[in-house]
Amino acid sequence: MILCETTHSLKSELAKLDAKNKSVGFVPTMGALHDGHLSLLDACIKNNEISVVSIFVNPTQFNNPADLEKYPRDLQSDLNILQPKKCDIVFAPTVEDIYENNQIASSVVLGKLGEVMEGKFRPGHFEGVMQIVELLFRIVQPQNAYFGRKDFQQVAVIKHMVKTLNISTKIIECETMREKSGLAMSSRNKLLTSENLKDAAFIFAALSHGRKLASSKTPAETKEIITKSFSESKLSLEYISIVDPTTLESLDYAWTPGATACVVAYCGAVRLLDNLELIPALQN
Ligand code: AMP
Repeated sequence: MILCETTHSLKSELAKLDAKNKSVGFVPTMGALHDGHLSLLDACIKNNEISVVSIFVNPTQFNNPADLEKYPRDLQSDLNILQPKKCDIVFAPTVEDIYENNQIASSVVLGKLGEVMEGKFRPGHFEGVMQIVELLFRIVQPQNAYFGRKDFQQVAVIKHMVKTLNISTKIIECETMREKSGLAMSSRNKLLTSENLKDAAFIFAALSHGRKLASSKTPAETKEIITKSFSESKLSLEYISIVDPTTLESLDYAWTPGATACVVAYCGAVRLLDNLELIPALQN
């Protein structure tokens, strides 16, 4: 496994591996790696000749400076986690290297996709995400890139960006990995106390209850029941939306295939994000 800390060294290592003539798979992360990240890497390794993982806490996607500051970072521990895997390259650049040595001018209009849920509560977040993902795609030039369904809206945004900019990278969605309690794995879970961890399991319980309700209630009724249940939990609900998986339009009276409930709730000061498909999607 080769560690590259600059864009220049990454490009030169990719050239040494003859990446232009091989399939390159890419897993972008912000580090503080857990089994959710590793499931993306496993899928990547299985289907590509060269696997690249990036570890970069991207400042431009944080709308809250305190959140950026307390985001967990431990490169050495991440490298130890990756070492036993058949990952070829870890790209862990500095902020200066990324933003001083690369130019990105594209601006993709997100429209509705960027106005709801995370777009509404974290203004500028997706602009930052698109900026870094596009930039990393241009550097790594992967055939395949792996993203977690845990960040449901992010997947929709990246797919939209790739289509709009005519980028040939295929976006592959991977299932959400969960703790035994049902809590979605997340780097932010490292900021939770053991008490918090128990409380946070409520999110998945509420979403699972929503899935049961979906057979007899409308989306609006389901949303209302889930919302009320949060008031009896230790968590503070920021939003819940039940949306169509493609348009992210909020559903009120009728279900659509793949209808998904997306939730953000605070456990103490830690913002937790999760989602669950309530109605099965159509098979392709
Ligand atoms: P992050 O480091 O949080 O930016 O996440 C990097 C990638 O890992 C993103 O595509 C996330 O959606 C994905 N990811 C994060 N948590 C999970 C999880 N619990 N299961 C599967 N993928 C995840």
